[in-house]
Amino acid sequence: MSTYLLEIVTPERLVYAEQVNSISVRGSEGDLGILPGHLPLVTPLKIAPIRIKVGGQTEVIAVNGGFVEVRKDKVVILAESAERSEDIDVERARAARERAELRLQSKQEQIDHHRAEVALQRALNRLNATSIRTK
Ligand code: ATP
Repeated sequence: MSTYLLEIVTPERLVYAEQVNSISVRGSEGDLGILPGHLPLVTPLKIAPIRIKVGGQTEVIAVNGGFVEVRKDKVVILAESAERSEDIDVERARAARERAELRLQSKQEQIDHHRAEVALQRALNRLNATSIRTK
């Protein structure tokens, strides 16, 4: 089965750089499957897990927004943050979810609800990524 190079890059590090068979991502306009030879494109991503198929296995990565760029020679995902599902600290994500939920319930005016909402999405994304079955 043919492959292409997938790179996932954040401001901090190169999270992933491997040959893959296909990926599926949650674009701003819907789910998108990318097979080898896909036409070049750039599209924003939602805060959602991406699935990577390689050699009959599926890997899951929690991607925090950003863009996917399909080039002729490779596919690049640029994100604010991204973690392989096995690297996710579940307790940390649960604590982040709890903090965000408390902030959203709070009636205090100085609470930034949008910021809390986005933090909640990041935490839920990480928890979702760890619970997706890959077998
Ligand atoms: P927290 O409130 O727990 O810091 P956050 O959503 O604010 O979470 P980010 O700013 O998105 O965190 O990420 C900061 C760094 O920490 C990034 O390198 C990200 O990959 C990493 N990170 C955040 N949460 C987790 C987690 N639960 N497990 C592993 N790495 C994480």
